[in-house]
Order: sequence, then C-alpha cells, then structure tokens
Amino acid sequence: MTKKQFKAESKRLLDLMINSIYTNKEIFLRELISNASDAIDKNYYRSLTDSNVVFDKDVFFIEITADKDNRTLRISDNGIGMTKEELEENLGTIAQSGSFAFKNENESKEGVDIIGQFGVGFYSAFMVSDLVTVISRSVNSDKAYKWVSGGVEGYDIEESEKASLGTEIILKIKENAEDEKYDEYLEEYRLRALIKKYSDFIKYPVRMLVKKSRLKEGTENEYEDFYEYETLNSMVPIWRKNKSELTQEDYDNFYLEKHFGYEKPLKTVHSSVEGVVSYNTLLFIPARKPYNYYTKEFQKGLELYSNGVLIMEKCADLLPDYFSFVQGLVDSADLSLNISRELLQHDRQLKFIAKKIKDKIKSELLSMFKNDREKYDEFFREFGSQLKYGVYSDFGMHKEELQDLLLFHSSTENKLVSLDEYISRMKEDQKYIYYATGENVEKIEKMPQTELLQDKGFEILYFTDEIDEFAIKMLMSYKDKEFKSVSSGDLGLEADEKDSGMDAEDNKELFDFMKEALDGKVKDVRASKRLKNHPVCLTNEGELSIEMEKVLSMMPDSPGIKADKILEINTSHEIFGTLRQAFTEDKDKLKLLSNLLYNQALLIEGLTIDDPVKFANDVCQLIR
Ligand code: ADP
Repeated sequence: MTKKQFKAESKRLLDLMINSIYTNKEIFLRELISNASDAIDKNYYRSLTDSNVVFDKDVFFIEITADKDNRTLRISDNGIGMTKEELEENLGTIAQSGSFAFKNENESKEGVDIIGQFGVGFYSAFMVSDLVTVISRSVNSDKAYKWVSGGVEGYDIEESEKASLGTEIILKIKENAEDEKYDEYLEEYRLRALIKKYSDFIKYPVRMLVKKSRLKEGTENEYEDFYEYETLNSMVPIWRKNKSELTQEDYDNFYLEKHFGYEKPLKTVHSSVEGVVSYNTLLFIPARKPYNYYTKEFQKGLELYSNGVLIMEKCADLLPDYFSFVQGLVDSADLSLNISRELLQHDRQLKFIAKKIKDKIKSELLSMFKNDREKYDEFFREFGSQLKYGVYSDFGMHKEELQDLLLFHSSTENKLVSLDEYISRMKEDQKYIYYATGENVEKIEKMPQTELLQDKGFEILYFTDEIDEFAIKMLMSYKDKEFKSVSSGDLGLEADEKDSGMDAEDNKELFDFMKEALDGKVKDVRASKRLKNHPVCLTNEGELSIEMEKVLSMMPDSPGIKADKILEINTSHEIFGTLRQAFTEDKDKLKLLSNLLYNQALLIEGLTIDDPVKFANDVCQLIR
C-alpha cells in the first residue's frame, strides 16, 4: 500500500518541525493537551444543541502515559474524536493557517518565534517524535481509525480498534541527540513540570498514572509500590478566581512561585474586564528591580494566556517600555491559540488590551500616589528613572501621560514632591519651576548658583538622576510654567536685574580682559546676580547645560559638545577688589587669577580641570 501524501504546505511545515527550527521543543505537550482539551470542549458544545448528549464535566479527562521501555509517550482524551475523513483532513493538511502564511513571508528568526509562541498544533509532535500514531474514534462513527506517520514521506490510515470514544496520540520519542535530551520527555518529573508550566489551568484534569510507595499492611517498615492516578494540573487559574476568594497571601505566593520577583510585590492588580475584548489580568508592581533590569537580558512583557492556556511567556507588546517593570499575565478567551486565525486580528485585540493595561497601570499608580504616599515614594525610588526615560524617549511622545507620575527632591520640603505640588507652592512673583542638577542632594545644596533663590525662599527641585534634565527639557513646561535651571544665565528674577546693570557697564573692560585671559573657555564673564557668599560660579546659556555636557561626555561615542559657559563673578565679594586692583596694577596677576577662579568654578561644578598641574602651580605661585 502506498503512503498518502501530505499537502504541500503541510509537508514544508513538517519538514521545519522535524528539522527543529524551533528550539523550544517542550511545547509539543502543551499543543497536544490543548487539542485534547478542545476536543472535550466540542462534546460540551454538542450537548448544548443535542438533547441526547449529556455533558458531565467530571467524566472527562486527559491522560498522559510514559513508557520508557518502549520509548512512547501517550496522550489520550475522551473528547469528540475524529472520523477517517477528519483524520485525513485535519492531520494531513495544514489549512491556510495564518501563522504558516506569516512564516513563509518572514523566513526570519522572528517568524520562527511567532510560530513557537502561538503554537504549531499537532505537527509539533514531530519535534520530539519520529513516529506518530493517532488512534481515534469519533462520536459520529462506529469504527475507529489509526493514522500513522513517520514524517514527510506521508502517512498511512487504516481501520483499528478502540474501546472508548476519543483520541489517543502515541509518540515514539526520538533518541537522545547532542542538543536535546529526548529521554526527559519520558520522565515523570519532567512531564509534571511541563504540565504545571504550560497546562496548569486546562479546564479538565490532566492525569497520569504514577508510581507511589506505601507501608505494607501488617509491617512496620516494609514498603510496597502501587500505582495511582494523579491529576497534575490545578485547573483553576488564580486570576479566574473571584477576588473575594483570594487573599494577598495567595497573590504573593503565586507571584513568588512564578518567579515574577524575589520578594513580595509592592502592588497587585487583579481585574476582569468584559467588553469588546474580554480578558482577565493579574498585574504586579515589584518592590525591587530585577537584578538584570538594566542589562540586555532583561525582557519586558506579560504572560499571555488564551482561555487558560499559556501561549506566550513574555508578550512584550502588552507593556510600554516605561512600564517595563510590571509583571503578570493576561488571559483572554478572545485570543486564540489556533494559528489558523489571522495574526493581524490577534494584533488588533492585543493592542486594545495593551492600551487598557497601560491606562490601568497609570491609574493604579496615581491612586497609590494619592492614597499611600509612602508606598509610592518607595515605588518611585525603584522605578522612577524608568518613568523619566519614558518622558524623554520617543521624542517626548508619552510625556503628558507620565508627567503627573514624576517626583523630584524638593529643597524646601526635603522630600520627593510632584510637579503639581511644586506649582501649588509657587510664590506670587515666581515665573519658573526652578531646578538644580548635581550628583546628590548634599552636593546640590552647596551649589553657589542656588544661593539667591534659596535666599528668596523659592523651592528648587533637585535633579540627581542623569536622565532628569533631559526629561525636563523634553517636558519643557508643566501647567504652563516653564522649567529653569539655577545655572541658566538668566533666572528671570526681574527685581534683581536693575541693580547689576551698573556693575556690568563699570566693569566691562575688566570682564573682557578676563574673558580674553580664559582663551575661549567661557562665552562670557559677568557680574553675578545670584551669588551671595561665593566668589564665582559657572552658569550656562543655550539649551545644553553643564550637567548635560557631563552626561554626554560619558557616553561611548561622545560627540564632545560643550555647554556655553558663563563665569559669574560676585562683585560684592572681597575678592572682587583684588581683581580690580590687579586690573590696574598687574595684568599678569589678573590672568593668573582668572584661570584660578575659572578652575575653582569647574571644581565646584564637579567638572575636571584640563591641567591640574598648572592649577596647582598657580596656587603655589600665589601663596609664595
Ligand atoms: P489547531 O488545533 O490549531 O486547529 P492542529 O494541527 O493542532 O491545529 O489540529 C488540527 C485539527 O485536528 C484540530 O483543529 C482538530 O480538529 C483536530 N484534532 C487535533 N487533535 C485532536 C484531538 N485530540 N481530538 C479531536 N480532534 C483533534
């Protein structure tokens, strides 16, 4: 008898399966169990329309049997079964399946991943088996049939015997290879783990006959083996349970068991949404960053389930980058594991869910901010940078979305405050939201540039994160109030503008000389309007601040852009007299002093001096 041939597309997919394009071979079990569960579902649907059929959930089950001696793994169900025609049609053809078409167009790695993630159905059996036998008896037929295939050469089909209704799939497990220990698929512990991992929430019991040991009757320390069926899946996913049935401890256990994080989550959000697309979500905000959060290994994403069946472990599309720290899962009956559905459709529904999830996370964070400030601060200390990156990235596309979630250290409150809180405290004559940038709070507090503002009692936001100023430049303003760096040339304090006008004219020649002496290092030398006790400071003009110059200069491909620096001199400081005197009496000394003061200002800014040796020598010369 000649073998029946697979349809062309099926042959190609089979070929791919056999030649293991997809390394995650273990998913075959998920696929077969999921098919079995669908077959049982079909009995249920039949019972809805056919009054002769009674659906008793308790009698349905899926059974896994491993036989090491014969190297076979059997997956059987008492579902609807397949007729001879159905065996040919369903297993001999891969219909115009969406993901198969996708695969052909995208012969890339991503295509392969999609296949692995959405499931390849029955054919995945060939990833671990070189001989697949399917024995099935349909409710619509009084005969059973056996379908056997060793791969691309085709399949045989013949009449067979089967006592009960349903389908039995017998995989002859491949011999161990270098890259894969196929033996494992016959081991109880491995099968248990796979079922727990992928099929825990299948609605029907997935059971296995397992060897157990018990005390022999009438003895005190003699044991005997016996066999007992054990159900390996829990059947009810925690996220489908009623919230009222669950305690925080249940959620915490689940979180830890799933390895979403290594300590209890900071916040759990469990919701069930009914609507255009219905879905359940269980989301967690971790208390701590994962250890690899800032490395390439870290992958954002949520687990994606279709009706309790895991279809993707890390669905990145469900989370925006700025919420990449969120862990958890989504389960929707409206997404199907069935690859024959259009992937595009998945996409649309997925996008819809992703948008809802994003909104949900934001509203949860806002309510945490309002109702549990301490917790929010804790959250922000851990993940605030991510939100700030979110403001900055994608050309500021998400800035409005995120601005109310931002916190910065406040000079007057001495704690983290929101922009809204800052605005509510602004002084009547205050035009700007002031900020100061530096390595840490202690260092910023000592910055000479903040003297005047602090004197006036203006609140200053301290930017200690590298991303802060970049994010704020992207934000530009908050509720119509612009941001202003304490180091910017003009602080926008009108009252102080006038009194220094005179100085500027008076000392023009002196400052010009100093600027000359600094030989292009500064754009200008000016009388300061902001210094009170310190003799000098550096400020800047233009978009690029000194802090940003610092950050940029640390980047691998630093473009070497420099901020336009202004050296501000405190004209009411004693040292100013010395400068004036040198200007009239000893120009060489003024040159020396100019460079010393400039270098000092650099040091205060936390910048490096170009020539520290010369600086030291200059100081020595002065001391002498
Ligand atoms: P999919 O499940 O995505 O449709 P598969 O290749 O896994 O694709 O299966 C093809 C078809 O074979 C199924 O749609 C179903 O009709 C049938 N089938 C597979 N396994 C079983 C089973 N255990 N019982 C009954 N029918 C099955």
